[in-house]
Amino acid sequence: MISIDDFNFSGKRALVRVDFNVPLDKKTLEVTDDARIRATIPSLKKILNDGGSCVLMSHLGRPLKKLKDDGTVDYEKHSLKNVLSTLSGLLGIDVKWGGDCIGEEAAQMASNLKPGEVLLIENLRFYKEEEKGDEAFAEKLSKLGDIWVNDAFGTAHRAHASTAIIAKFFPGHSCFGYVMAQEVANAEKVMKNAERPFTAITGGAKVSDKLLILENLIEKVDNLIIGGGMAYTFLKAQGYEIGSSLCEDDRLDLCLELLKKAEARGVKMLLPEDSIVADAFSNEANYKNCDNKQIDKGWMGLDIGEKAIESFADVVRNSKTILWNGPMGVFEMSHFEKGTKTIAIAVAEATKNGAFSLIGGGDSAAAVAKFGLENEVSYVSTGGGALLEYFEGKTLPGIAAVLAQE
Ligand code: AMP
Repeated sequence: MISIDDFNFSGKRALVRVDFNVPLDKKTLEVTDDARIRATIPSLKKILNDGGSCVLMSHLGRPLKKLKDDGTVDYEKHSLKNVLSTLSGLLGIDVKWGGDCIGEEAAQMASNLKPGEVLLIENLRFYKEEEKGDEAFAEKLSKLGDIWVNDAFGTAHRAHASTAIIAKFFPGHSCFGYVMAQEVANAEKVMKNAERPFTAITGGAKVSDKLLILENLIEKVDNLIIGGGMAYTFLKAQGYEIGSSLCEDDRLDLCLELLKKAEARGVKMLLPEDSIVADAFSNEANYKNCDNKQIDKGWMGLDIGEKAIESFADVVRNSKTILWNGPMGVFEMSHFEKGTKTIAIAVAEATKNGAFSLIGGGDSAAAVAKFGLENEVSYVSTGGGALLEYFEGKTLPGIAAVLAQE
C-alpha cells in the first residue's frame, strides 16, 4: 500500500481528495459534526510539515439530485465554503477559498500556493462529470496538484472523477492518506486476521440492503447477531406472527437460505427471542415486551426485548473480534433505545477485556456517539457505504486506483 509517508512533499502541491461530506445545521449551515474533517488533519499536517502545500477537494451532499422546490440547484446549502471556518480552526491556519473547482481562479490560486498554505475548492458534485467519472473533468482537476493523495474512504466505493479516474494523471505520484490507510488496515484486521470468537452484529431497517454482507460474513464469523427491523423478515420466514413489524415479503426465501447456510457452516446465528413492541411508530405509542413467536396484530417490534438483550450481550462480551453494523432498534426514540445502548455497552466491555471492535459508520457510529462510547470501542469507521462494500467482498475503486499506479 503506497502511503503518504512514502513521499516528501517539500515544495510540492498535494491535491488531496478528502471526505468533507459532513452534516450541516439546516438554518445556520454550520458544521454539526466535524469528525470527518478532524480525521484528515494528520494527513494535511504531514504534507505541510514536509514543506508542501495542499489543494483540498471534496463533495458535500448530492446537489444535482436534491434540488430546491423550484427545481434549481441549492448552491448555498451545498457549498464547501460552509466548512471553511471549521477546517481553519482545526488546522490552526487560515485556509484559502478557491471557488469553482475547475475555474480559472482555483487554477491561479493553486499555482500560487506557497509552502504551508492550504486551498479548499468548491463542491465537486456541482458538476455532473464528477459522479460520471468523466476523464476530461478528472484531467482538469489533476492540474491543481503535483501528487494526488486519496484520503476519502467514505467515497472509496465510487469510481468518480476525483476518487478514482484522476489516478491515471498521477503515475507514480499517487498515495493513500492516513484516514484511508487506517480504515483499510482495520477492515483487513477484521476480515483477514480476526481473533476468535468473531461476532458480527447486524441490524438496521432492511434485509435487502444487507444481504450481500450477510452472505459474505457467514463465511468468516463464528456468531452472527441479527437485530433491528431486519430481524422480522427472518422471523416471519420461520413462520412467526410478526404483527405490523417491518417485513420484506420478497426476501423470505433468501432469509431461509441464509439460515441454512449458517447452520451448514457451523455459524451460530442469533435472532431475537423477544421484542419491545409498540402500537404505533412513535415514542408516544403504548409499548410492552413481547415474545417474538406471537406479536399481536397492530403491534410492531421497535427494539429487541429483555431476553434478546441478555443473550446477545452475553455473546458479545465473550468475543475477541466484533464488527457492528446497524442498530438493534429505533434508537433515535428513547423508549426503543435500550437494545442498541446495552449492546453498545457490551461492545465497550469486550473491548476493555482485549477484544478488537470495529463500528461500521452511519447509524451504528451515531448510536455509539449518542451513548458517549465512541472512545471505548477500538475503531469507528468514517465510511458507511464504503465499509459495507468492503465487507461484501468487493474491490473498492478508490483503493484499486491508487494501487494501479504503484
Ligand atoms: P439502516 O440504514 O438499514 O442501517 O437502518 C437504520 C435505521 O433502522 C435506524 O434509523 C433505525 O431507527 C431503524 N430501525 C432499527 N430497528 C428498527 C425496527 N425494529 N423497526 C423500524 N426501524 C428500525
